[in-house]
Amino acid sequence: MSDSTPLPWHKDLWEQLQQRLQQGRLPHAMLFHGPVGVGKYAFARALTQALICKSPEADGRACGDCPACHLYTAGNHPDLLLVTPGEGSRVIKVDQIRDLIDRLALSRHGRGYRCVIINPADRMNTAAANSLLKTLEEAPQSTLVMLLSSQPASLPATIRSRCQRLRFDLPQQAQGVDWLLAQGVSDASERLQFANGAPLLAIEERDLPLAELQTQLSQDIASLGQGRLAPGTLAQSILKGGEARSISWIYLWVSEAVKSRMTGTTPERKEAESLQGLTQQVDLQQLFGFLDRLQQVKGLLMTSVNKQLLVEGLLYDFTAMLRTRQ
Ligand SMILES: [Zn+2]
Repeated sequence: MSDSTPLPWHKDLWEQLQQRLQQGRLPHAMLFHGPVGVGKYAFARALTQALICKSPEADGRACGDCPACHLYTAGNHPDLLLVTPGEGSRVIKVDQIRDLIDRLALSRHGRGYRCVIINPADRMNTAAANSLLKTLEEAPQSTLVMLLSSQPASLPATIRSRCQRLRFDLPQQAQGVDWLLAQGVSDASERLQFANGAPLLAIEERDLPLAELQTQLSQDIASLGQGRLAPGTLAQSILKGGEARSISWIYLWVSEAVKSRMTGTTPERKEAESLQGLTQQVDLQQLFGFLDRLQQVKGLLMTSVNKQLLVEGLLYDFTAMLRTRQ
């Protein structure tokens, strides 16, 4: 995957932005939002290189061969300012934004654009977000600030209102599979399904034994329900195996179990069938409440909460719900 080429399912977005650029109407602050693994970051990088490149192609893509492109691909072009949570941290701190503002006050390296990528933007803490407001309102000339987020709703309204929003959609299933095959992923269809349709997530997880992980988690939940596994122990193993993915799976299975119960059908996924068996006598309202809780936990996992306590609490709630079975 070349850094300078937009992903096939973002061709329209690309053309739209190129058009605006040619008309001199490129906004100076944009919010790229869409699911994890859809390719927001790849797009932001391709756009950055295109704006930095000295002799872009006809469709706006970077040439990949000029001095600016070489500097960019070597990973040290001074006109790309990347802000991400510091190592070992889950948040973007105010000092990082202050540092960014200081760097923006310096003169540009080239004569072209200067690009800022804040990823994920929803990880900025309140102080960091507040200190960015002025920059979003009046960015220095020829500066493009790109905020990337899969949870735009968790961004302060003051930030959202100062950015033009650009929505990134998942590709059609066939397009996603074709792309994964071209990247050398042989079980592309299965991988894409595991990644909820997000091709870049599928690439990231290509070496994980996801089927085995799912089976294990499903069995562990059954053991939890039968009182043979303590919530604390299961929480620990969920955290070890990647909590965001595990919670998403549980959410998926419970949703499917609920849906099947309402329609009187058998769930397609065997994990959902197992959950349906466990929760058969649980009141539907309670199950809906648990789905809300799962959704809430998914969001909280992105923050700096104590994850062990959070996941353990969720599993306690699950066992408490099972105890209400009639
Ligand atoms: Zn170039």
